[in-house]
Amino acid sequence: MRTREFEKLVAVLQERKAQIERNLMEAAREVESAGEAEAIDEGDLASIGADTQTEVLIAEQQLCELREIEHALAKVKLGAFGICEMCGEKIGIERLRVKPHAKYCIVCREAYEKNLSNLRHTPHRENTHTANFSY
Ligand SMILES: [Zn+2]
Repeated sequence: MRTREFEKLVAVLQERKAQIERNLMEAAREVESAGEAEAIDEGDLASIGADTQTEVLIAEQQLCELREIEHALAKVKLGAFGICEMCGEKIGIERLRVKPHAKYCIVCREAYEKNLSNLRHTPHRENTHTANFSY
């Protein structure tokens, strides 16, 4: 990978990390003040408003992304950034531009997703959304 390209991706990651951290702090503050207003006791999530619940969900998603970004930044330090964690090959630059914290190359990612959807379609689980029953 060319150095300038690499540096740009790392900068994107660091920027995104800082942004998420700001978002999370803000969300935490809002949840806290909503909690005070609605008098939650013992952290009863059912008693807080829908807006606050959405806030919590978004915060959880961002936290998840933050962990992925931190993982990617750790890989930068190890000199393993841009390497697929499944096959050890380089992840394509086009893919990294779209998702700098990608863990897997496109081939492994597709295999991984296929695997997940196979799990989802096991006959033991109810699937009311599709008409294609695979018995
Ligand atoms: Zn791979």
